[in-house]
Amino acid sequence: VLNGDRERAERALERELLTSRLTAPAPTAGLGTGEVYLIGAGPGDPDLLTLRALQLLQRADVILHDRLVSEAVLERARRDAERIFVGKESGGPDNQNEIHELLVRLAREGKRVARLKGGDPFVFGRGGEEIEVLAAHGIPCTVVPGITAALGAAAAAELPLTHRRLASSVTLISGQLSDGALPDCRFLANPGHTVAVYMGVAQLPNIVARLRAAGAAAEHPAAIVERATLPGQRVLRGTLANIEALAQAHEVGPPAILILGDVAAFAPAEATAPPTAAAGVTA
Ligand code: SAH
Repeated sequence: VLNGDRERAERALERELLTSRLTAPAPTAGLGTGEVYLIGAGPGDPDLLTLRALQLLQRADVILHDRLVSEAVLERARRDAERIFVGKESGGPDNQNEIHELLVRLAREGKRVARLKGGDPFVFGRGGEEIEVLAAHGIPCTVVPGITAALGAAAAAELPLTHRRLASSVTLISGQLSDGALPDCRFLANPGHTVAVYMGVAQLPNIVARLRAAGAAAEHPAAIVERATLPGQRVLRGTLANIEALAQAHEVGPPAILILGDVAAFAPAEATAPPTAAAGVTA
């Protein structure tokens, strides 16, 4: 094929993918073993899908998705693809083994299966467990990274996770630690180190208490980004002293991510409010 032809074809495909919700021409699923696409859907805004995620969503015969995958993202999938909701009810029983069985069964039926997860599949997404199972069954799998919630929230709220003056390291942690413990709190208590806490809002009192006990100051900046990149996104800014009260007053609900450290008070130089006085909420 001439280069020009290929380029034209690629550009046409890109245009299609970017501008339409087309139903992809659906080549029949291959005989024998199918395959799995483990796809990160990003934080919610469908424009934050990668091109590869979009391509594979157009190709998949069946889509297994979680609660965090937005309807707007699902709308970008092949129209006639079967959709299976496999999200766990919060506090409900763990259904991870059923998901594994379903992935294996569908792939064995010859299907192209998109396993679609909020954010990135390998950040608190249990993607690692799923590729282990697929590998054990000899099922081909393609992993597509997604924009993880911390990055989506940081961009949406304009809080740089690192900044030459403010923070040179960042840690992603889960607030849902089985024993309620946090890893190395003295390190996390340094405001020059950014901490993004996933699944942490219900655990807010626990997290605040532990950081304070490890030496974090009352005025240690804290921000909550609720529904980052989704309609109705809200950003609350405060400190360890008042972030619980703010979250309560504004009835913060999932999904929300907590960002701790000096960057949580970041405001571009033009802004007039002094950093730590910036407790409040912006929608
Ligand atoms: N794999 C996902 C994380 C799953 S854990 C990722 O990489 O983002 C679920 C947690 O992610 C939620 O409790 C919340 O803390 C965070 N989260 C996911 N989407 C979010 C969003 N749009 N806004 C804020 N937090 C979000």
